Amino acid sequence: MEETNNYQVLLYYKFVPLEDPEGFAAEHLKFCKNLGLKGRILVAHEGINGTVSGTMEQTQKYMDAMHCDSRFADMPFKIDQHDGHAFKKMHVRHRPELVTLRLDDAVSPIEKTGKFLSPSEFFKAMQEEDAVILDTRNDYEYELGHFRGAINPDIASFRDLPEWIKEHKDELKGKKVLTYCTGGIRCEKFTGWLMDEGIEDVNQLHGGIVTYGKDPEVQGELWDGQCYVFDERLSVPINRKEHVVVGVDYFDGKPCERYVNCANPDCNRQMLCSEENEHKYMRGCSHECRVSPINMYVKEHNLSDEEVQRRLDAIAEEEKNKQEAI
Ligand SMILES: [Zn+2]
Repeated sequence: MEETNNYQVLLYYKFVPLEDPEGFAAEHLKFCKNLGLKGRILVAHEGINGTVSGTMEQTQKYMDAMHCDSRFADMPFKIDQHDGHAFKKMHVRHRPELVTLRLDDAVSPIEKTGKFLSPSEFFKAMQEEDAVILDTRNDYEYELGHFRGAINPDIASFRDLPEWIKEHKDELKGKKVLTYCTGGIRCEKFTGWLMDEGIEDVNQLHGGIVTYGKDPEVQGELWDGQCYVFDERLSVPINRKEHVVVGVDYFDGKPCERYVNCANPDCNRQMLCSEENEHKYMRGCSHECRVSPINMYVKEHNLSDEEVQRRLDAIAEEEKNKQEAI
């Protein structure tokens, strides 16, 4: 039996030229499986980007092996303790880019990127008068938590960010632009392009939000809410000085930090939702998703047709009352 409380989750990336990324990916998958790790790793000609989980021993062996490879000798690992694996499987995938921007005029982050600020430098810079804090993550990530006062580009995907920048350049010109993302990779890739777009004072949070939350000096201060992560944990705490909830329940708008996916696998929409509302709405984001023949909530809870109908009626009744109240 494995102990359940001595697992770690590693988050890491490194922009470094890889000659045969496809071959590297195949080898690396074997290596990770042999170690017993689980997770998701992307490999491209421009480097590596991964999140893996495993026991203390497995993850330590992995870090040691990577640090013995001259290409990854100085690659930082962000380490979180966890009570088990944070993934179900181990994937290593070859991709054209580590994070997808699909820009024809993109500069390599190895050649050009914004100025790196340490957590305490970033903390100070956020409070300067001409500072503009720009969240480079997706809309659902921002919803759960963000730096106080940060701009939300409200994008569904990272590749939509350049378009948003082109439309909002006036808000950034002449300002001290401070960008941040979960672990730093999106900003490292993106800020070089931002400088080429004519924004002069471009700064990025070194190591991302995750590092900021672990920093002994700033302790996550000025972060509101939680930080969305791309594994089974879904979110991690950042601000160790105070906790301000910014997320709101998809159904009733009350403060909420609990993530669920819509029970219709064809939809799979991510939403913040209390346990109570999950049951009430059968985890369906819409009527269509609730009555979907493949609704997973109905399956998991073995609901009879009568019970499903009872809940649909209750929702309809409430909707009706709401309308009448207006
Ligand atoms: Zn749905």
